[in-house]
Amino acid sequence: DDSLITARDLSVGFKIGSGFFGKSILKAVDHVDIDIAKGSFFGLVGESGSGKTTLGRALLKAVPITGGTAHYRDGEVDYDLTTLSGPALKDYRKRAQLIFQDPYAALSPRMTVRDIIAEPLEVMGLTKTREETDARVREIAAKCRLNLEHLRRFPHAFSGGQRQRISIARALVSGPQFIVADESVAALDVSIQADVLNLLKQIQRDLGITFLFISHDLSVVAHTCDHVAVMYLGRLVESAPTRTLFAAPRHPYTKALFSAIPSLDPDDRGRAQKLEGEIPSPTNQPSGCKFHTRCPFAIDRCRAEEPLLEHPGDGHEVACHRWRELLAETAA
Ligand code: SF4
Repeated sequence: DDSLITARDLSVGFKIGSGFFGKSILKAVDHVDIDIAKGSFFGLVGESGSGKTTLGRALLKAVPITGGTAHYRDGEVDYDLTTLSGPALKDYRKRAQLIFQDPYAALSPRMTVRDIIAEPLEVMGLTKTREETDARVREIAAKCRLNLEHLRRFPHAFSGGQRQRISIARALVSGPQFIVADESVAALDVSIQADVLNLLKQIQRDLGITFLFISHDLSVVAHTCDHVAVMYLGRLVESAPTRTLFAAPRHPYTKALFSAIPSLDPDDRGRAQKLEGEIPSPTNQPSGCKFHTRCPFAIDRCRAEEPLLEHPGDGHEVACHRWRELLAETAA
C-alpha cells in the first residue's frame, strides 16, 4: 500500500446551540473514506460548506476527529491520528503542515520575513544555534525563490504572490512530508496563481512531498492534481484519478460542477447541466442522498436511503444509487 494518509469512516462533528433535545451536532465531515498516495498532488473540491477545509484540518490534527479511523504511514512510522499524543504528536507536527488560505492575513506584520520562516524551527526546537537556523532559512527561501534581501524586510513590502511564497517557505522549513494547501491561490490574481501553483508542483517533484490541495475551483485542480476527490455536505461523493474524473464523471454533482466551467468547445455549451439551488445548511441536512434536493435524477430511493461510496475496482469511486444506470444512458 502506497498511501501516506488513509482514513475510513472519518467524521468530525461539532456541538452547536442547545435545542429541545439538548445540544445538536453539526456533521462537518461525515463518514469519509480517503486514501492519499505518497508523493501525490491530491485535490479536494467542493463548494463552501462541503467540509473540505474541516477534513484537511482533521488530517493535520488541528480539529478533533470524532469518529472512524485515520492513519499516517511513512516507512516505519504508523501514526493513528485519532489517538496521537506526546512525542509522536510533536513529531507529526514536523511532518504535517498547513499552508494558509490568505497570505494577506497569515503573516505577522511585525516580524521580518527571516523571523517568520524561522519561527517553526525555534518553536519545535529543530535547530540549536542561530547560524544553523539562518542556514536552514536561506536554503528554504532559495527553494521558494525568495532572495536574501527579502529576508530582512517585513511582509507589507511584498505582493500577494510573494507573501504566498513566504507562507510556503514557513510551511516547508520543518521538512514536512505532508502539506495541506487550503485555497492557497484563491486570493491571488490569475497570473500569480499560476506562478504559485508551479512552485508547489516543483516542490512536490523535488522534495517528494505529498499535497492535499483544497479548492473550490475545478479548473485549478484539473491542471495541477493527480487525483481528485469531490465533497458535498460533509460526504465524499466521488474520487478518481484526475483524467478519469474529467473524462467521465459519475456523480451528478460532479457533472454539475464541471458544466459550470466555461467550455471552449461549442458542441459542449448546450449540454451544460445547471446546478440549481444553494447547498443546504449543514445544520439541517436532507435525508437520504444529501444531494437529492438539487439532483435532476433523484428518485424516491434517493430521499430515503443514503448511498455509500462504492469501490467498483477501477479506482473510480462514487456514492450514487443511480450511477450505473446514468452511465448506460449516456453511452446509449
Ligand atoms: Fe442524485 Fe439519487 Fe444519485 Fe443522489 S443518489 S446523486 S439524488 S441520483
